[in-house]
Amino acid sequence: MAVINRIAEFHDEIKGWRRDIHAHPETAFEEERTADFVAEKLAEFGIQVHRGLAKTGVVGVLDGQSNASGRAIGLRADMDALHIQELNGFDHRSRHDGKMHACGHDGHTAMLLGAAKYLAETRNFDGRVTFIFQPAEENEGGGRVMVEEGLFDQFPVEAVYGLHNMPGMPVGTVSLRSGPAMAAFDIFEIVVTGKGTHAAMPQLGIDPIVTGAQIVSALQTIASRRTAPMDSVVVSVTQFHAGDTWNVIPETAVIRGTVRSFKKETQDRMEQDIQRMARAICESQGATMTLRYERRYPALVNSEAETGIAAAAAARVVGEDKVVNGAEPLMGSEDFAYMLQAKPGCYVWLGNGTEGGPGGCAVHNPHYDFNDDIAVVGASYWATLVEQVLPR
Ligand SMILES: [Zn+2]
Ligand SMILES: [Zn+2]
Repeated sequence: MAVINRIAEFHDEIKGWRRDIHAHPETAFEEERTADFVAEKLAEFGIQVHRGLAKTGVVGVLDGQSNASGRAIGLRADMDALHIQELNGFDHRSRHDGKMHACGHDGHTAMLLGAAKYLAETRNFDGRVTFIFQPAEENEGGGRVMVEEGLFDQFPVEAVYGLHNMPGMPVGTVSLRSGPAMAAFDIFEIVVTGKGTHAAMPQLGIDPIVTGAQIVSALQTIASRRTAPMDSVVVSVTQFHAGDTWNVIPETAVIRGTVRSFKKETQDRMEQDIQRMARAICESQGATMTLRYERRYPALVNSEAETGIAAAAAARVVGEDKVVNGAEPLMGSEDFAYMLQAKPGCYVWLGNGTEGGPGGCAVHNPHYDFNDDIAVVGASYWATLVEQVLPR
């Protein structure tokens, strides 16, 4: 591996930042302390700091030793934590009850700060780097809000790059793919209204539980019967709430879940399919229903040229044989997709460690921890990307 030696020299410092952020997790749009921390560090490195986009977003702007090219690229990290009660016992465990950095955004923030420190010291590039620290990646679309509030108007860039740690992939490996890489993310809520009655006299009511169970079953056919086999869709029912006691058929049942897809046409069809199936089943039982359907994140699509650029930078750091260009897409979702709708760019996965070892625990698990051993690799990737894209 050819990590940047100067970055390796301050590995302990990056680790310290990472653990400090881990111990103080903050969720969507409340990343006040984290944003202060990031802004303070950037200013300390001599980087121009802008605040206020998407409430807690922080943007750092750094020019190279020269800016004759007039070119600029954006590097993005996410700062938010999750609503999870951490079950780790180590010293840097969460100090905030019910909140936890279980997706490694603490590591993403620390790695981008590490790259910023190095790039501010060396400025061995021609052009401008915009460091984007966004809030609310999980569920709430802080990246979308930053774009809507004028991120790329205020800080124009020709391309934007992102990365995410990936448990299950060995330390010192990178994977990526051109084209659709992560799925679009929608949510739905179906409220079935029947007629409540005594459980021993079902003929006097309309049972929303039996009706709802049929809906849950029918939704499984959207992926298996309504979608082309080579297209990819997930329809997962994740909540079913109905009833309070043994001997009452309740009045209503609430079914919630998520839909993942890649193609715009497929995503468009999902809402219609769910609506039609749920309504037909309710009608057949004499029940009524309402559907709330929300499109959260679009599919994440990497542009071809920038994927090549990212792969080359990664290969420089971890070696050609440790880069998988053409990885399988993931059905997970990312609000970096909004930045990639606005600008060309590429999002890569960085190995966090394999199962059983450090960094092997899956993200969103209460035992997860970002693997500090990959921090120098990630920061070196960022710095190398800048020096390769904006050569002096
Ligand atoms: Zn996550
Ligand atoms: Zn994440």
